[in-house]
Amino acid sequence: KKLVYHFSEGDKDQKDLLGGKGANLAEMTRLGLPVPPGFTITTDACRHYLEQGREPDQLRVQVTMALRRLEDEVGRRLGDPVDPLLVSVRSGAKYSMPGMMETVLNVGLNDRSVLGLVEASGDERFAWDSYRRLIQMFGKTVMGVDGEAFGKALDGAKAHKGVETDVELGARDLQDLVDEFKQIIANHTGHEFPQDPRRQLDLATRSVFDSWNTDRAKVYRRRERIPHDLGTAVNVCTMVFGNLGSTSGTGVCFTRDPATGKPGVYGDYLSNAQGEDVVSGIRNTLSLDDFAELDPDSYQQLTRIMRRLETHYRDLCDIEFTVERGKLWMLQTRVGKRTAAAAFRIATQLVDEHLITLDEALERVTGAQLAQLMFPQFDAAAERELLTKGMATSPGAAVGRVVFDPATAVAWQARGERVILVRKETNPEDLEGMIAATGILTSRGGKTSHAAVVARGMGKTAVCGAESLEVDRAGLVATAGGVTVRQGDLLSIDGSTGEVFLGELPVVPSPVVLYLEEGLDVALDKVDEGTAEVVRAVARLLTHADGVRRLRVRANADTGADADRARRMGAEGIGLCRTEHMFLGDRRPLIERVILADNARDREAALAELVSPQTDDFVELLTAMDGLPTTIRLLDPPLHEFLPDRAELMVKVAVAKERGEENPDDERLLAAVERLHESNPMLGLRGVRLGLTVPGLFALQVRAVARAAALRVKAGGDPRPEIMVPLVGSVMELHLVRDEADAILAEVRDSEGVDLQIPIGTMVELPRAALTAFRVAEAAEFFSFGTNDLTQTTWGFSRDDVEAAFFAAYLDKGVFTVSPFESLDVDGVGRLVDVATREGRSTRPGLKVGVCGEHGGDPESIHFFHRTGLDYVSCSPFRVPVARLEAGRAML
Ligand code: PEP
Ligand code: MG
Repeated sequence: KKLVYHFSEGDKDQKDLLGGKGANLAEMTRLGLPVPPGFTITTDACRHYLEQGREPDQLRVQVTMALRRLEDEVGRRLGDPVDPLLVSVRSGAKYSMPGMMETVLNVGLNDRSVLGLVEASGDERFAWDSYRRLIQMFGKTVMGVDGEAFGKALDGAKAHKGVETDVELGARDLQDLVDEFKQIIANHTGHEFPQDPRRQLDLATRSVFDSWNTDRAKVYRRRERIPHDLGTAVNVCTMVFGNLGSTSGTGVCFTRDPATGKPGVYGDYLSNAQGEDVVSGIRNTLSLDDFAELDPDSYQQLTRIMRRLETHYRDLCDIEFTVERGKLWMLQTRVGKRTAAAAFRIATQLVDEHLITLDEALERVTGAQLAQLMFPQFDAAAERELLTKGMATSPGAAVGRVVFDPATAVAWQARGERVILVRKETNPEDLEGMIAATGILTSRGGKTSHAAVVARGMGKTAVCGAESLEVDRAGLVATAGGVTVRQGDLLSIDGSTGEVFLGELPVVPSPVVLYLEEGLDVALDKVDEGTAEVVRAVARLLTHADGVRRLRVRANADTGADADRARRMGAEGIGLCRTEHMFLGDRRPLIERVILADNARDREAALAELVSPQTDDFVELLTAMDGLPTTIRLLDPPLHEFLPDRAELMVKVAVAKERGEENPDDERLLAAVERLHESNPMLGLRGVRLGLTVPGLFALQVRAVARAAALRVKAGGDPRPEIMVPLVGSVMELHLVRDEADAILAEVRDSEGVDLQIPIGTMVELPRAALTAFRVAEAAEFFSFGTNDLTQTTWGFSRDDVEAAFFAAYLDKGVFTVSPFESLDVDGVGRLVDVATREGRSTRPGLKVGVCGEHGGDPESIHFFHRTGLDYVSCSPFRVPVARLEAGRAML
C-alpha cells in the first residue's frame, strides 16, 4: 500500500488521504509553482498507527525512498555535515484544526550539521539559532519536556547578557544555550537529544500522529463536529528560511479580503522572520504595498501566483509564503474561510469574472450565512471598546445593563430595562432570567452548553465561553483584562462574532432586511458601496434560487401584519395559520362561556357571538394573501389554556368560602377547570379531539372561513383558503370533521351564491397518522407535516422541556449532534415523513404535501424535504428567504 506521496504525485482532491495542506501542496507543485520539495505521509498511515499502536511495516522503507528522491532533487542530504538538507514536519488533517496539532521545524540539525549550516548560510548566528529552536521544539513536542524549562533558560541567557530580546543574543550565546537545552532534555527525560537525523524525522512524525489525540484536539473536533477517526497526514517539506537577513521574510495573503469580500489582494509581511512570528503578532507586520516596495520582484511573482491560484481554484485562496534571500517560496494555500458578507460578495464577483456559474455561486453561500446577514447589527461606523471575546453562539446584536442573577434580570426587565445576563455558566434555574434578558454572556461552556442550546432555541443573542472574563456573582462584578464591569453597567454583545463591547453601541437594522422589506432601491440608497455590493449579491442569488428551486416556500403567519411581512420576504402562501391567538384577549370570556355552558342553547349563543370577529380575522388574512394559498388550521391547544390558573382559582374560592363570600360563577369555573385538568395536556384534549368533543367549535371556524372567502370574492378578491385539521391519528376523526365541514361549506356556498373551492386537509403530526397515511389520504385533500409534534411523539421528548438537563447531556455525549427539534431527525422522524408521503400519494395521486413545523426553516431539513418530494415548506416569515435560498441549493 502506498503510504507516502511525493508532492508531485497528489492533487487537491485527495484531502481524505493527504490532508488539506498536503493535497494543496501537491496541487501547487503540479501547477509548477515554487513549492519547496517534499512528501506527505498519508492519513492511512496515521490511522494504522493510532489503531495498532505502531507504524505500518512498509512505512519505514517508503519514507527512505521518498527521502532519497527528495535529497536527489535538492542535491543535499538530510543532516549532512556539509550543507545539510533540513525539513519541517507538519500535521495536516482533512479539515483545518488551527494550532491543535504539532509541528517540528529544522529537523536534520545536530552537532555536526549545524557547522555545515554555518558554512552554507554564511551566518553563524542563524545556524545556532535554528539548532536552538529545533532542540526546544523537539524537546517539548516529541520528548515531552515542559516548555517552560526552555523558556527559563532563554530568559536566563538574556538576563546574563543584560539584553531584552532574543535577537540581541549572539552566536556564542546561542551555542551555550544549545548545550543548556540538551542538558535540560537529558535531565528531564533521562535520554539524550537524538543526533541521528533520520531518527529525528521518525520521532517527529510519530509525535504528529500522536497529537491527533490530545485532549485539546478532541475537544476542538467535538466542537466543530469533525469525526474522530480521520487521522492526520504528515507533511515533510524542505526548510526554507525567512530569517536570513533583510532580503528574507515571510507572509500570509488572501486573494480578496476575507472579511468584507472587497476585491484586490490583501495580506501581511514580516521581513527577516519565520512563519510563526507573523501569526503570533509579536512584531508589527508590513502591508503588501510595503512589501512591493521592499522586494518588487518577489511581489510581482507573488501577485502573478495569486491570480493563477484564484483562476485555478476558482475561489478566494489564502496563502502562506516565504522569501529566502530574494527567492519566493509557496508554503501553503487553501480555499479561504470568509465572513457571511464576503461569501455572498465574492460568489457574485466570481460570476462576473466568468470563473464560476450562478449555480456554483449559489452552492457557495448558505442559508445560515443569509440568516446571519439578516440580524440587526452594530453600526459599523461606531467607536467601540472591546471588553472580551467568546464564542459566537447565537447571532444578533444585543445591548443592555449587566445583571448577574436571573431574579434581577426578571425584575429589571419588568420595569422596562434591557438586560444582559452575565453568568459563569447557566442551568435550568436561570431560564426565567434568560427569557427576560436581551442577551446572554457566559465565561464558560461551548457551543452545546446549556446557555448556548437554550439561547439558540429562543433566538436570543448569546456569547458563551468568554474565558478571560472573571464573573463574581456575589460581588456583582465581572472583570476582563483589568477592566471591571458592575451590575447596571451597559454592555453590547455581538452573537455573530463573539465580541463583547463596553457601553452602548448603536444597533442598525440589517441592510438585507431593508432590501427584503422595502425593495432594493431603498436599501441601496442607505448604505455604503461595499454593503451595497453585499445586498446586490444577496438579491441576485435569491432570485437565482427562486428560478431553480422546485420546493415552494410558504410562511407560518397568523395576522394580516405577519402575512404582509411574509409576502415581502417572498412567501408564496401561508402554510400554517394558528387560530389559537384569535381566541385570547377580549374574546376569552366568550370562550369561557362556550366551555362552561351546560346546555346547547347557551353554548350556541356564545359560539354565534364569535362568528363575526373570527370572520374579520380571516378576511384580513385572505386580503393580505390575495391570490396565494392560505392554510387555516382549526383550533389546536388544550382547552384548559383558555381557563384561569387552577391553583390561583382554588385559593380564591377557598378564601371566599372562609369569608362567607361565595361566588357561584367562580365555583362553576373551578369545577370546569378541575374537569378539564390533565396530567399531560400535550397528549390530551387537543386538536381534532377538541373539535369532536365541543359541539359547534370547528363548525364556527369553518363557517367563518367560508364567509370570509365569500366576502373576498364579492369584493373582487382571489381568496385561496385551505382548511387544516390538527392532531389527527385516525382517518375516522377526519371523516367526522369533514362530514360536518362539507355541509357547512355547501350551506354557505348556497346562501352567499358564491362558488367556493376550499380544500380540507390534515396535519400529519402523530406517528399513527404517518403509518396509516394510505387511509388518511382517503379523507384528506392535502397533508402538512407538523414536525414539532411528530418529533415530540416519535422520540417521546416533551417539546416544551428541551432545556431539560438531559438534552445538554445528550448533545455532549453525542446521542445526537443537534437537537431533533432544531434539525429534523432524518433516520427516525424523516422515515415517517417519507412513508406517509409515498403512501398518501399512492391513495391520492398528486396529493399536495408540505411541512409547517420549525424544521421548515432549517437548512439541512429543507434539503431532506426536497429529496423526499414534498411540495412546500412553511416557516416563520423571517426564515422565508433562508428557505428560498436553501430550496434552490437543494437542486444543485
Ligand atoms: C407542529 O406540531 O409541528 C405544528 C406545526 O403545530 P404546532 O407547533 O402548532 O403544534
Ligand atoms: Mg402540532
